[in-house]
Amino acid sequence: MRKKIVAGNWKMNKDIEEGVSLISEILELSKSVELSAKEEIVIIPPFIHLTEAKKKLGSSEVKIGAQNVHHKAEGAYTGEVSSRMLASIDMDYCLVGHSERRTYQKETDEQMLGKTRQLLEAGIQPIFCLGESLEERESDRYFEVVKSQLTVIFTLSEEEFSNVVIAYEPVWAIGTGKTASSDQAQEIHAYLRRLISEKYGEAVANDTTILYGGSCKPENAADLFSKEDVDGGLIGGASLDAQSFIGIIKAL
Ligand code: PEP
Repeated sequence: MRKKIVAGNWKMNKDIEEGVSLISEILELSKSVELSAKEEIVIIPPFIHLTEAKKKLGSSEVKIGAQNVHHKAEGAYTGEVSSRMLASIDMDYCLVGHSERRTYQKETDEQMLGKTRQLLEAGIQPIFCLGESLEERESDRYFEVVKSQLTVIFTLSEEEFSNVVIAYEPVWAIGTGKTASSDQAQEIHAYLRRLISEKYGEAVANDTTILYGGSCKPENAADLFSKEDVDGGLIGGASLDAQSFIGIIKAL
């Protein structure tokens, strides 16, 4: 089902005490927000917070996701976390292919596809991130770049793909304060939806949630979210402050 989502990626921020207090603030402020069945708030904290955060969220409508998962089911992979482990603490979502992991951990297409498959098998929805670098944008190669990133998961079956959320995050806009204009975001989102339609058909494409990420703030969120193919946002920096995060949610 196509949903409107605002998801907060905390990245490597907040110790346990700070995390618990951020969740308390989000829960308190979110009381003033009415969500329809097709709208979701998601928090995506580091691993150490997940169990405590899940308890704290209790029966609230706020969903939770992890920032990473390993591409193999289990085994001798010290320091890694599997999809089955995430499922055992009831994760709703998990990021795959965030540009910071593509850059710093040199994640490959094969690993990203493996992670996506592991999550789907465990019943967790992947949020598959993609987006071009500044150099790729300036040399007008951004359509070809996002196409090659998206088609990595085109070996999924139609049923599997229907459970994937896409996040378009131009690398030049992440953590830089430079936001893509709402027209730039719409142009790519519409293109991604067309590619999905060509591969899986119009019904699947229309049902796919495509988020925008990259310096999204309360001040620019309403403009971005007003675009037909922008179904919400993946928020980094601004999700670390409850007021800003809720401000963005209100823009939905
Ligand atoms: C992100 O990390 O996914 C992100 C969009 O970060 P920021 O909002 O800080 O640009």
